Amino acid sequence: MIDLLFRDALVVDGSGAAPVRADVAVAAGRIVALGRRLDVAAARTIDADGLALMPGIIDSHTHFDAQITWDPTLSPSPALGVTTAVIGNCGFTIAPCRPADREITMKNLTQVEGMSIDALRAGIDWRFETFAEYLAQLRERGSVANVAAYVGHSSVRTYVMGDDASKRAATDAEIAQMQSIVRDAMANGAVGFASSTSPAHNGEGGLPMPSRLASDDEMTALVGAMAEGGRGVYMLTKGAHTTVSFLESLAAATRRPVMVAALLHNSVAPRAVFDDLDAIAAANARGRRLLGQVSCCALTMDFTLASPYPVEGLASWKPALGKSGAALKTVLADRAFREAVRAELKTATTFRLFNSEWDKVHVVETARPDLARHEQRSIAQVAADEGRDPLDTMLDIALADDLKTVFTAQLLNSDEDAVGRMLNHPHSIVSLSDAGAHLTFFNDAGFGLHLLGHWSRDLGAMSLAEAVRRLTSHPASVLGLVGRGTIAEGHAADLLLFDPQTVARGPKRRVHDLPAGAARLTTDAVGVHGVWVNGRQVVDAGGLLANAPLAGQLLTDFAA
Ligand SMILES: [Zn+2]
Repeated sequence: MIDLLFRDALVVDGSGAAPVRADVAVAAGRIVALGRRLDVAAARTIDADGLALMPGIIDSHTHFDAQITWDPTLSPSPALGVTTAVIGNCGFTIAPCRPADREITMKNLTQVEGMSIDALRAGIDWRFETFAEYLAQLRERGSVANVAAYVGHSSVRTYVMGDDASKRAATDAEIAQMQSIVRDAMANGAVGFASSTSPAHNGEGGLPMPSRLASDDEMTALVGAMAEGGRGVYMLTKGAHTTVSFLESLAAATRRPVMVAALLHNSVAPRAVFDDLDAIAAANARGRRLLGQVSCCALTMDFTLASPYPVEGLASWKPALGKSGAALKTVLADRAFREAVRAELKTATTFRLFNSEWDKVHVVETARPDLARHEQRSIAQVAADEGRDPLDTMLDIALADDLKTVFTAQLLNSDEDAVGRMLNHPHSIVSLSDAGAHLTFFNDAGFGLHLLGHWSRDLGAMSLAEAVRRLTSHPASVLGLVGRGTIAEGHAADLLLFDPQTVARGPKRRVHDLPAGAARLTTDAVGVHGVWVNGRQVVDAGGLLANAPLAGQLLTDFAA
C-alpha cells in the first residue's frame, strides 16, 4: 500500500543530477517508486504541479543539545526544511555530565553559545549522566527531525577533570579515561567526536572552554579512540594556532573525515580563509578527507554591551568577562581597558569576529529616549559627527543607556564574491547554521532556504541541482548517514516540497517563547509547501503543524 504519492513534482534528487518531472511514491516511511506517471493508488496524493521536491536539508552544525530536551520540535529548523540535525558541534554538549557539574555546564553554554541561563535552568531535563543515557532519553522522547549526536570534548573533559577541565593539561591517566568515554559513546551511536580550540570560545567567567586546554597529544588520543571502530567524523572549530597540517596528520592516522570550522570570510584578512581551503585541498590531494565548514549567510549579530559576543574573544576584553552591573560598567569606562582593546584591534590576525569595521556596527535600539537619535546610524557616522574615537563612542552610548542599547554588527562573510567561491570550493561543506545557539544574536537556521533562493536562484552562484546536492547527499555521505540525502528507491522519505521561484528565508523576528520567557530570534520560511520526515508530514505551507508528529529518528548507525 502506498501511503503518499507526489504527482508531477520537479524532482531534484540530491545527487546533483538535473531536475526531472516525476511522481514519487512513499510507503512505510521510505521512497518506494520514482518515475513518470506511476500507476499506483495512494492513501494520500499531493498534486505538486511542478513544485520542486528535494531530500530534506541536513544541518551538520547545530547546537540543539539542550533545547531538544524541552523542545522536541527543534524549532525553527524543520519549518525551514531541515529533516536531520547534527548536535554537539564544537564539543559543547550536555552529556556526559555529573549532577555536580550541571551548573557549570549551563553557565558555560550561556557564555559560549549565548543561551539564556534562565531558559537552561528551567528547560533542561536532566535525567541522564552518561552519553548513552542521554541518547536513550532522546530516543524515548522523540523529535520532529532526525538527530545525530557528536560526543563533545568539553563535556568529556569536565566529566573526568571537574573544575580543572578549564584550567590545565590532562594527565596520561585522565586522557585514558577520556578515551574510554569516547570509545563508549561511539559504541552507543555517536556520529563522531567534536571539539574546539578557538579563542572565541570562552565559558563561565571568561575561562577558556575545557577543550581549549587540550594538548595535541590529548587531541590525537581522543580522535584515535573515536576512530577505533572504523567509523566517525572528527569535527573541530579551530583557533589560528591549530594548523591544517596537524589536522591532516589526524586524518592520515585515523583514516576518518575531519570537518574544520569555522571558515568565515573576513574582509580585513581576505586571504586567510582561502589559505585554509588551499591547505585542505592539498591534504585531499594526498588522499586525506578534510572539509572546511563554510556558511552561506553573512554573520550579523545583535548584541548589547552586557553580553557583547563579537568582542568577547579579544584577549584585551578579558577584564570585562564574567562581570555584570556596576562592576562591568567600571571596566568599560576604564581608560586603560579601552586603550588595550584599541591596541589589540590594530594588530593583524587570521581570525577575529570583530575587526574595527565601525561602519558595519549600527545602533538598533536605545532604552533612553534622548539617545534614540543614534538609532539606525553606524558607530562610524556617530563618531565622525562627534569627532570622537569609535570605541569610546560605542561604549559611552551603552554606559549612558545602562548597557541596554542593542547594537548590530555585520561581522564576517559579507563579501558575496568571496563567499560564492567558498560555497563552490570542492572541499567545503555548506554548514555553520549554529541553530539552537546564539539565540538572541542571530538565526541562520534557514541557511538551506537561503542557499536555494539567494545563492542559486538570485545570484546564479550554483545550479539548483548543485545547491540541493550540497544540502543533502553531500553532508549525508560525509557523516555516513545511511539511506538518506537522495530521493532514491529504498531511501528514507525525508522530503521538502518548495517553490523554486519564491523560496527564501524570511526576516528575523524576536519572540519570547523559551522556558522562563527568554527571548530568541526566529525566522519563517518563504516558499515552503511541506516537509516530511520518514514519510510523515511535519510542516505545511503555514509552517510547523500544530501537532507535528515526532517522526524523527535518533540516528546511531553510520557507514564506515
Ligand atoms: Zn558551533
